[in-house]
Amino acid sequence: MTVVYILSSTRSGSTWLALMLGSNPDAVYLGELARMFRAEPEGCSLCAERGVACPLFHDIAAYKPRDVHAMLSERTAKDVLVDNSKSLSWARKTLVSSEARSYIHLLRDPRAVVNSWRRRGQNKGLEQWVDENEQIAKFLSDQQLDSRTVSYDELAGRTDETLAGLCEWLGLVYEPAQKSYWGVEHHGAGRNGATAAFLNDFVASDEAFYAERRRTNFYDTRWRDELDAATRRAIERDIRLKAFLQRAGFELTDDGLTPVRASARP
Ligand SMILES: [Zn+2]
Repeated sequence: MTVVYILSSTRSGSTWLALMLGSNPDAVYLGELARMFRAEPEGCSLCAERGVACPLFHDIAAYKPRDVHAMLSERTAKDVLVDNSKSLSWARKTLVSSEARSYIHLLRDPRAVVNSWRRRGQNKGLEQWVDENEQIAKFLSDQQLDSRTVSYDELAGRTDETLAGLCEWLGLVYEPAQKSYWGVEHHGAGRNGATAAFLNDFVASDEAFYAERRRTNFYDTRWRDELDAATRRAIERDIRLKAFLQRAGFELTDDGLTPVRASARP
């Protein structure tokens, strides 16, 4: 059994990635597991909609964070568990357990993330993006963890190639059908545009018509039209960001956040 953690800033596409990985026949999506261990715990979104006890998470309160993945592995009989908690404190809290772990650091173009935060009225900017992603990179390197860094633009622009690479690394046989994640039943806490594609599908609802429109993978590049020129320029010229991206092996281009080509690396 391997637990795959996805670590990222918010608004980076982590739920989407987790759902596609968790749709592999030998893997299972766990959602934002950390939300089930908060002071006010959240339950499974799907089972809450249905008004039933969750077959996977109903008794989760009886488990400690460090024991929960082993229990879920036994219960699901899957080889790979995809934990989309995103939070570093959760990753630290569950580091003590003895199972195999792999970490995906998902980077989304800070121009897109800052634009998305603003659209939602969140008072956060580039500095926060750099802080969060530097902390993730430092955690992975300090702990010498098995990890891959992937950008949203790679995932959305070359979905098959990028997912196939991640699956191979995780010991999974990639199946293109796993992109149609809404065809698989997923349990877990947390909801957003990506989970809406299956939540409405598995619950009889008037919203099925609208859910139909969400059953597609789309490449969100709205920042290109929405972000003002001054903010865009300030991000592109930021020294701290440049230094971080250089260490991570990525660069900002007109196409988004892309890996520096091997030939161009120093
Ligand atoms: Zn459930």
